[in-house]
Amino acid sequence: MELLEQKILSEGKVLSDTVVKVDSFLNHQVDPVLMQKIGEEFAARFSDKKITKVLTLESSGIAPATMTGLTLGVPAVFARKRKSLTLVDHLYTAEVHSFTKNTTNEISVSKDYISKDDTVLILDDFLANGQAVRGLMDIVKQADASLAGVGIIIEKGFQEGGKQLREQDIRIESLATIASLEGGKIDFKNEGAT
Ligand code: 5GP
Repeated sequence: MELLEQKILSEGKVLSDTVVKVDSFLNHQVDPVLMQKIGEEFAARFSDKKITKVLTLESSGIAPATMTGLTLGVPAVFARKRKSLTLVDHLYTAEVHSFTKNTTNEISVSKDYISKDDTVLILDDFLANGQAVRGLMDIVKQADASLAGVGIIIEKGFQEGGKQLREQDIRIESLATIASLEGGKIDFKNEGAT
């Protein structure tokens, strides 16, 4: 997605050879116009599937998942990273190791919001080693729901998550794929080359 790549190039800050910061439009401040276009793009890419729920992880997944849900006309559900006082029982839970924070979180989704009748599109902001996506897939499996595929805003193609998930025949649509961050320079993998 050309617009997204331009935004990453102009506003992304390379923190190391493996981490890029995009706080100005995705992870802290949100660009609503870009999010709307991202939502339309995911909806178009998965238009062959009868998606009934978009599932993401709080907090950065919420904006793109909401916009995708808006375009598809379905709810967006976000897994919580912290145990809520009002959400104690009746949960699907999974363990997710955070790539950026090097911590393990238990994520949870109420059984009220995903069921076996759902066809779920999983969305996340970044794909690195695939832990977050695997945790969300675990929740879809526990609910006995169908997985339509996975939408990723920024895939880091030099990390293993995307390759491993595709080897498992999971459909992954990434809107921008970074081939390298070496030397502080952001290089994209050409679209269509995935
Ligand atoms: P994974 O679970 O695929 O290893 O990592 C994906 C998760 O880690 C995403 O949900 C995202 O929050 C975070 N993440 C991974 N790499 C980056 C990065 O380069 N920049 C930012 N901002 N977040 C990242």
